Amino acid sequence: MNAAAETFAISTETRAFLDRKHQLFIDGKWQDAISGETFPVIDPATEAQIATVQLGGEKDIDAAVAAANKAFKGEWSKMTAHQRTRVMLKLADLIDANMQTLAELEVLDNGLPMMLAQYTIAGYASEFLRYYAGWATKIHGDTIPVSPMGLPNGESLTYTRREPVGVVGAIIPWNAPIAMFVLKLAPALATGCTMVIKPAELTPLTALYMCELIKQAGIPDGVVNVVPGLGHVAGAALSSHDDVQKVSFTGSTAVGKKIVESALGNLKKVTLELGGKSPVVVFPDADVEAVVGGAIRAAFFLQGQNCMAGTRLFVHQDIFDQVIGGVAAIAGQMKLGPGLDPSSQLGPLISADQRERVMGYIQAGKDEAELICGGNAPDGKGFFVEPTLFTNSNQNIKIAREEIFGPVLYAQSFGDSDLETIAAEANKSIYGLSGSVWTKDIAVGLKMAQLIDSGQVSINCHAAVDPAIPFGGNKMSGWGREFGKEGLEPYLKTKATTVIFSQPPF
Ligand code: NAP
Ligand code: MG
Repeated sequence: MNAAAETFAISTETRAFLDRKHQLFIDGKWQDAISGETFPVIDPATEAQIATVQLGGEKDIDAAVAAANKAFKGEWSKMTAHQRTRVMLKLADLIDANMQTLAELEVLDNGLPMMLAQYTIAGYASEFLRYYAGWATKIHGDTIPVSPMGLPNGESLTYTRREPVGVVGAIIPWNAPIAMFVLKLAPALATGCTMVIKPAELTPLTALYMCELIKQAGIPDGVVNVVPGLGHVAGAALSSHDDVQKVSFTGSTAVGKKIVESALGNLKKVTLELGGKSPVVVFPDADVEAVVGGAIRAAFFLQGQNCMAGTRLFVHQDIFDQVIGGVAAIAGQMKLGPGLDPSSQLGPLISADQRERVMGYIQAGKDEAELICGGNAPDGKGFFVEPTLFTNSNQNIKIAREEIFGPVLYAQSFGDSDLETIAAEANKSIYGLSGSVWTKDIAVGLKMAQLIDSGQVSINCHAAVDPAIPFGGNKMSGWGREFGKEGLEPYLKTKATTVIFSQPPF
């Protein structure tokens, strides 16, 4: 394991992209950061530097916001909804056509296994764009039968228009970079907004590659601007900018709170997709084999660096040992390695810092619970951590309360009690993003789904994701929803217009 990713071939396209100069994309042009500063991009599987990127700062954000503002009033605002649909469909096709390069860049930048990189691009990013491309022509207001100012019926007309909010600032995390990029981009383009996107400093590469495709798709200059930079500098400048009308943020709850504060200046609209600590609740009639596979995917997908991760497993006592034994047997055999190695099942964590954080949680778990499998960071290059399972404690311990964002699962059993009691245990969290229920009893499944306080609950699978399924968090997991029809709302504002046909009686 930990074989250098360099030993796995990448395409000449990918190699050429890595070797070129990586600048900021502002007003349709590549440019250096005003400071001239740069930052390194590291492959987390090998710890090798794979690229150097210009580091955007406050003045670069100013320039990008100015370009987005100009574009909002320019050619883009004259394009019809049909034309916006067409450029979005073209961009989706370009993503598919360049899938291999995008996937290789994503693997080198983020560390995830190749198969998942391909899934998040082909199966997700381009379909997400196509889904919202379809919405562009279906965004419209109402005519409302009213009689204002004492006028008789029929003596006035009131209608609403759904207008784009304007310049959107998007701040995204590193755990699924291209998916995050596209899920902010697609509703913004469908509604006619313009954007400044700040990718995570740890994973800027696919965002930059996307800029080339955005240009080729015929999206006018300035509609999409990408400024890689540090969160507390470029991110803070974007979220506090007075010419930005909306911020769409995905990241940690701690930074989400800062975004809300920095939005106060101009009271810009804010949506937040934040952390999670989602429950997986298994009833005794569930299909054990399906549960084991599902629990492993729920906890260890993206090495557990997944906001929807099912990191608290609740299993009925009758099948607890079977489920835990099954999870431990598979997790203990999972092959860790570079994402470019087709046999790798788990990649590295994103950074040395993240590995240290996760190992701190594993130590806390060893102090407060029983370790069933994993728990180590293998020697050698790459920020790998074994898939780790703990049990035999309670929901008050640190590893059951806090979002770890690593491959660490805490499992506990429950006895025969009513659904409300089981749900109260599952809801013992400041978060409420996702969750799943496993049972063959339809009434138990649906009732439990109702009782779990999360934005999304799945039955007999965990975290079903589709562009059309609304996604977002309750409690401290966020504000608002993305995906689906609801995902358009944050990018729109309603204008009501009334005309009267005769003078009012008073
Ligand atoms: P993070 O530290 O909150 O960073 C997210 C983004 O915010 C990055 O682009 C970051 O820039 C930027 N940022 C940091 N400080 C900022 C500030 N003061 N002002 C403005 N922007 C700032 O989160 P992360 O560690 O990258 O990602 C992990 C977290 O994201 C987890 O909590 C996870 O649950 C959450 N997440 C949620 C979802 C969801 O949909 N609910 C999806 C994925 C991840 P830098 O990269 O330069 O720090
Ligand atoms: Mg960060």
